[in-house]
Amino acid sequence: MKKIILLGFLLSSCARGTIPTLEDIASGDAAVVDLGHALNRHNPYWPGPVYEPFQFKIIATLEKDGVYSGAFSMPEHLGTHLDAPNHFKLGQKAVDQLELSELVAPMAVIDVRSVVQGHSDYQLSLADVEAFEKKHGPIAEGTVVFALTGWGRYWNDFARYKNQDTLGRMHFPGFSSQAVSFLLEQRRIKGLGIDTLSVDFGPSRDFEIHHLVHGKGGYHIENAANLERVPSKGAWLLSAPIKIEKGSGGPARVWSAWRR
Ligand SMILES: [Zn+2]
Repeated sequence: MKKIILLGFLLSSCARGTIPTLEDIASGDAAVVDLGHALNRHNPYWPGPVYEPFQFKIIATLEKDGVYSGAFSMPEHLGTHLDAPNHFKLGQKAVDQLELSELVAPMAVIDVRSVVQGHSDYQLSLADVEAFEKKHGPIAEGTVVFALTGWGRYWNDFARYKNQDTLGRMHFPGFSSQAVSFLLEQRRIKGLGIDTLSVDFGPSRDFEIHHLVHGKGGYHIENAANLERVPSKGAWLLSAPIKIEKGSGGPARVWSAWRR
């Protein structure tokens, strides 16, 4: 009898897996982590002549106007944001054209923090992916694969976060093309995520990773927060980018949920 009860328990827990229901999330029964940084004028942004910091001004106050209201402006690719496939490729979807179903995906979080220490220009390698799969099994089709580099700890220090040398070239970790080609071709992933300014490492000039992923219709989540609080496997990604018509991406509420 005990064996039957145990078997029943095992079967039901396997069937449930780690997928939280919407009810689990709404009731607080699921584990949820906010993967976004709050927007403010101190946020890091892409250091180019056409980019600007986040700006916010109060346009009405309760004291004076009886209503509190603000107005903001920002580049699409500032803060925790989504890169739409048309960011680097003609004919690919704009941010408003992404299906909502595309914005829900299993997450894999590959921890490369120990290698990144002392090697700012590290690129997550195929060997890192293979080591991850050896431990956690093959990455499922439709997954969004995140690199946990630990770079998020510099978020509140723009100079450290972009880490420019005397020539202005940035130094922060990203993905290698070998790893990403494997993930796209052999695992058919939906996209990538990272806790730095870009999925391409800092010194990149050709943005090869952007071309590879967007060429396959995939998207990125950049400047992700709190990745260290998400399990390596079993969590789900939920992204809600702003719906800018023909936008190349945009600020997004991004979070992760899994069944406790
Ligand atoms: Zn971007």
